[in-house]
Amino acid sequence: MCGFGNDDCDESEEVISSNLSPARVDIPRIERAVREILLAVGEDPDREGLIKTPNRVARAYGELMAGLQDDPKRHLKTVFTEEYDEVVLLRDIEFHSLCEHHLLPFTGRAHVAYLPDGKVVGLSKLARLVEGFARRPQVQERLTTQIADALMEELSPIGAACVIEATHTCMTIRGAKKHGSTMVTSALRGIFKENPSSRSEILTLMYSDCSVRR
Ligand code: ZN
Repeated sequence: MCGFGNDDCDESEEVISSNLSPARVDIPRIERAVREILLAVGEDPDREGLIKTPNRVARAYGELMAGLQDDPKRHLKTVFTEEYDEVVLLRDIEFHSLCEHHLLPFTGRAHVAYLPDGKVVGLSKLARLVEGFARRPQVQERLTTQIADALMEELSPIGAACVIEATHTCMTIRGAKKHGSTMVTSALRGIFKENPSSRSEILTLMYSDCSVRR
């Protein structure tokens, strides 16, 4: 948390539960740009409270963009051969991303599922996959399809599905100011797209319990 007189912002912020190293960003360039923004809004970038802000912002962007230099599909390369032919579903994968239209955060949960055809991966890999695609300038629709398509490409499953529910701060704190509104996107592949009963089964698994728990 950034608060008045809180210099913890300098060093102790870490990427919680992330295995991604901050992206190699051009720190001095971002610093110059942030200084320009502060000047443009009529602030004094040299006043005490703002003096370190350009550097803090630059390093924060390094973390928020960490997925740009990652190939999230790498997490699906270690597979196990398993004769398991039921749905694998990981629900409520929390993620934080950055809307590419406003560079404001959007956060939410992803529900990721696949119906294996002999190849399975560790559950944590699904969470890493989501994180890798989320930590970059994104739009929710693309994030959703990238996750489903990566599963199809790497695991060749019978079907894959990704549903994302997220709140966009560009909607809630500015513009339409629709506080509490949630955007839902889905990408269904293979049998989940083609077969209505498989589709309704996976969506029921993803949704029914989720709404009960809220
Ligand atoms: Zn936006």
